[in-house]
Amino acid sequence: MHGMFPKKEEDMIVTKFGGTSLASAATIRNAVNIVKSDPERRFMVVSAPGKRFPEDTKITDLLYQVHHARKEGNDYQNPLRQIREHFREIIEELGISFDLDREINIIEKEMKEYETADYLASRGEYLNARIISRFLDWPFVDAGLLIRFRGRRLDEEATYPLVRSVLKNMEHAVIPGFYGKDEEGRITVFSRGGSDVTGAIIARGVKADLYENWTDVSGIMSADPRIVENPRKVDWISYRELREMSYMGASVLHEEAVFPIRAAGIPIQIRNTMDPEAAGTRIVPVIPKDARPHTITGIAGKKGLSDLFIEKAMMNAEVGFGARVMNIIARNGVPYEHTPTSIDSMSVIVETAALEHCRNQIISEIDRELNPDRIMIEDGIALIAVVGEGLWKNIGFASRMFAILAKEGIHVRMIDAGFSEMNVIIGISAPQYEKAFRALYDGLQDLM
Ligand code: ASP
Repeated sequence: MHGMFPKKEEDMIVTKFGGTSLASAATIRNAVNIVKSDPERRFMVVSAPGKRFPEDTKITDLLYQVHHARKEGNDYQNPLRQIREHFREIIEELGISFDLDREINIIEKEMKEYETADYLASRGEYLNARIISRFLDWPFVDAGLLIRFRGRRLDEEATYPLVRSVLKNMEHAVIPGFYGKDEEGRITVFSRGGSDVTGAIIARGVKADLYENWTDVSGIMSADPRIVENPRKVDWISYRELREMSYMGASVLHEEAVFPIRAAGIPIQIRNTMDPEAAGTRIVPVIPKDARPHTITGIAGKKGLSDLFIEKAMMNAEVGFGARVMNIIARNGVPYEHTPTSIDSMSVIVETAALEHCRNQIISEIDRELNPDRIMIEDGIALIAVVGEGLWKNIGFASRMFAILAKEGIHVRMIDAGFSEMNVIIGISAPQYEKAFRALYDGLQDLM
């Protein structure tokens, strides 16, 4: 059931299910029913079991606990027992035969060969995929055969041909997410939530028509539901818009999951396992002409930022001033978010947490190397981004946005409205964040 979204005669779909959707026998049954209900769903990528109830611990977190306990020479039997019990419950309730004790013995043996947490971290996906493959009666294909890393980075050149050649003649497969192997054959994992990336890679490798990402939410929301009550669900969103929204904290998908399929133009559909009839959100290269017209796709934002402010008379005439500032920041390992400038001053907006160990170091390096008139770091900055491909075609939009903020008494500290023509980002002080967010969401409803 694809709802409002178009469908060709014979599409090939790669489905990926998240940990909450595969946490128990009941949710696995539900996911398997979804997969089976459409013959075009040919390849199923799975996460490790997530939480069954709010106080539960995700299998992946327990696996990391085992690793850390072992590294520190502590007893790891407690987290290992919890892992065993969780899988045992799933296996028993699914009514399949699976020699769990043997598998766990192998893991205990093999983990000794690894210094890093990667091998252990990957075993949640591995075991879950083996179990689901048995239950679904589809072949299991190990991600180690498909996904290649060079160091810690995906080796795209090696991976796509491998995926294609291994899966080419297969009707179906269950594939564990989250990991692959490096050039030395060692298990390597993506960053947390990385099964989304695996799904995208498989979709690209087999040249799927659609990558379905099944999760526990109804799709991408046009605003943060913790701030705005019942925000509208987004039906269509472009890859570029999604990138803006998730960068600003509205994340449903792993950030890196978009890139493999964006290059291949494959749409992603976010769907909810708890509401499988609902259409969800479709992420596409270009929003189709017949989609509901709108100017703004969503509003997103984040707190916890700092403004590094530097002032120096005639800064503009000093060629390379900005580059040297950025160099100092980079040298200290701090990524930056924005750099609004004026004639004699510049700001660099960074995450406050990233400054934790190098705040004084950065100030003294800038002082020494650039001799500014004034330098200071102000914490407690928040950013709000209004995102939409159609934004800048709407004349008068900016005046409306700032009138709304003015009416609420919001002090706008920074404006960044890039030439990408698809967003406006404002910087405000953190205590005004929620108020500004709600005011913009309510006041710009007719454009959403
Ligand atoms: N199980 C891994 C994690 O918890 C990967 C994933 O679920 O996507 O991060």
